[in-house]
Amino acid sequence: MSEEDVLQPPDAGPPPASAMLALDNMSQGLAMFDAGARLVLCNASYLRMYGLSADTVKRGCPLRDILELKVRAGTFLGDVDQAVDRIRAKIASGNTIRALDESIDQRVVAVVTSPIGGGAWMSTHDDITEYAQAVRELNRTKAFLDNVIDHVPAAIIVKDAVNLRYLLVNKNGEEYLGHSRDALVGRTAQEVFSPDAAEIISANDRKALSTNRLQTYESPPLHRPGDDSQMIFGKKIIVRDQNGQPDYLLSIIEDVTERVRTAKQLTYQAHHDALTGLANRVLLTERIGEALARLKRRGDRFSVILLDLDHFKSVNDSLGHPVGDGLLKAAAQKLQTSLREDDVVARLGGDEFAILQVFEGDQREAGIALANRILDVFGQTFEVGGHKVVTGASIGLAFAPDHGGNADQLIKAADLALYRAKSGGRNQFCIFEPSMEAEAHSRHALEIDLRNALRQGEFEVHYQSLFSVATRRPCGAEALVRWRKPLHGMVSPAQFIPLAEETGLIVPLGEWVLRTACADATGWPPEMKVSVNVSPVQFCKGDLVETVASALVDSGLPPERLELEITESVLLHNNDENLAILAALKSLGVSIVLDDFGTGYSSLSYLKLFPFDKIKIDRSFVSELSDRSDCAAIVCAIINLARALKIVTTAEGVETREQLALLRAAGCSIAQGYLLSRPVISSQMTFAAAEIGERGDAAA
Ligand code: C2E
Ligand code: CA
Ligand code: CA
Repeated sequence: MSEEDVLQPPDAGPPPASAMLALDNMSQGLAMFDAGARLVLCNASYLRMYGLSADTVKRGCPLRDILELKVRAGTFLGDVDQAVDRIRAKIASGNTIRALDESIDQRVVAVVTSPIGGGAWMSTHDDITEYAQAVRELNRTKAFLDNVIDHVPAAIIVKDAVNLRYLLVNKNGEEYLGHSRDALVGRTAQEVFSPDAAEIISANDRKALSTNRLQTYESPPLHRPGDDSQMIFGKKIIVRDQNGQPDYLLSIIEDVTERVRTAKQLTYQAHHDALTGLANRVLLTERIGEALARLKRRGDRFSVILLDLDHFKSVNDSLGHPVGDGLLKAAAQKLQTSLREDDVVARLGGDEFAILQVFEGDQREAGIALANRILDVFGQTFEVGGHKVVTGASIGLAFAPDHGGNADQLIKAADLALYRAKSGGRNQFCIFEPSMEAEAHSRHALEIDLRNALRQGEFEVHYQSLFSVATRRPCGAEALVRWRKPLHGMVSPAQFIPLAEETGLIVPLGEWVLRTACADATGWPPEMKVSVNVSPVQFCKGDLVETVASALVDSGLPPERLELEITESVLLHNNDENLAILAALKSLGVSIVLDDFGTGYSSLSYLKLFPFDKIKIDRSFVSELSDRSDCAAIVCAIINLARALKIVTTAEGVETREQLALLRAAGCSIAQGYLLSRPVISSQMTFAAAEIGERGDAAA
């Protein structure tokens, strides 16, 4: 079909049928109007696109009528009159009109209307519905992605990798760069920023492009140089074209201020004790590791010192946890001020502290000097929450490298030395010795054996009778526990009671002794009392009062035949709770005896605290009775004082007739000792008056 065939003048009559057939086969719609806006011709695609019928739309049909038909068919949504006027005006001025016809069913037709001379025109119509939909979809996707990118909590900046002009900047990017995207897009950093800032940006870009890999950096924000209140983490990614050439340079910049701060805080918390702010075990171990490295490199020796507050538990128990916490804080402060800046103080938990000591000069001397300084400081009164507290400290020292090659070994060595200091009477320091390790091992083995012993019934109770000094007749017996250890024979309580107390095993063991003693005593003459030793540990763990009551009920022993022997450590630090327990025990009807009287440093003051029924003068005074006049004087004073307070006195450890004679002269009422009777099992007890042989030994 030639152009002349179709574009003949409108008044030339209808085109030949062959030309019309060709027009009808076109997928494009086509229509021609004369200067009077009447249809000259249109093809089949045109009619189909607009839902028109060849019967009504014919040559000579006015444009207005055709538009009305289109409106009815729903294929034209505009105003008919306006459309007619607009087309005629544009054609008259010789312009081409491009427009989109949208139909009610969302089809889109692109229309190009061009003048063809003499006021006539021709229009072509392309159905671009699918294309339009694709474009719409794309726009929606782009809008969606723009929205997503804008809301990413990071600055996203995309540049052309070749000319480094900004292509895309999201909201955070605008904020980070300090400029709006309008001011950035299409420009280079040099065109926007100060020379200094532009140089930083360009250098980063060049580095990313040349090293060909992702870059990361942390820096303060660009437009606030020198401000390090904000931490930035940036990545640059090269996006390449099909040929592998850099196409885009993508920068993702995150504000990591909060993350860095949290991480720092977590690291701090993981390395410090929350209560005192001191280093914790983790940090101490790290510092010891560093000190060991220095020791290897430069030969710098150092010491690890462990410290335990004496009697912290009783302060905590009697004055409450806030005071306990206050004491720990005060202790931490005192420790810090008594150390040098390079030393590290740590709290390992509870009332246990550790010091990493670096020093100049002699290691041993420096360690001892520090230990003495600490003992001095902790020997003074602490003012905590309105209370005056005296605590004291026990200290263990270990020297690197002599006592260990790593942190664990050194801490363990110091711990063993600390154990020695504590078991040696507290408020002192000890330096690690290799033998302590062996002792710890045998202590551990003993502990395991002890636990089994209770289960396997290896304990026995022996009884040592107490005698009236006046009549020499027995008036009671003290229950003394014995451990018949297989393959070892008898183990003395002096060896295992301290360990049983430390491990808490004394609670079930003590209960077993009590029940056995009560049961055995029911078989004795009614004037015979039974005395049972009670450890301070039984006061704080377990329910002592209930245990005693139930032992009496179960055995049927009258309460007035039971005596409980306690030592003054039960009353240390005005322990109100223990005083209450003692009162409850006494109200059961049992007698309370103060054992080992005179060995503590304020024995007399305890007599005011509780109405004891009896005191037992310690063996150490009795054994020196005949040789030292001061001991005799002390024993006399105790007996006289007790008599004034209506307290019965027993003397223990009486081994000679001379001692017994002196005690009788001093007015002591009861005596116990090898001279009178050794401890024996219940079935071997005799209840007759003691016969004392020529050499002063008990006949039994
Ligand atoms: P203690 O309560 O002061 O017991 C007296 C200790 O002195 C006993 O030692 C006894 O055998 C010993 N003894 C008695 N007469 C003489 C003497 O004339 N000369 C000498 N040198 N010693 C004498 P034992 O049985 O070895 O007990 C030692 C400590 O073990 C006791 O001291 C007591 O503190 C503790 N103990 C013993 N049995 C028990 C118990 O069942 N429970 C508790 N908690 N502690 C116990
Ligand atoms: Ca005793
Ligand atoms: Ca005693």
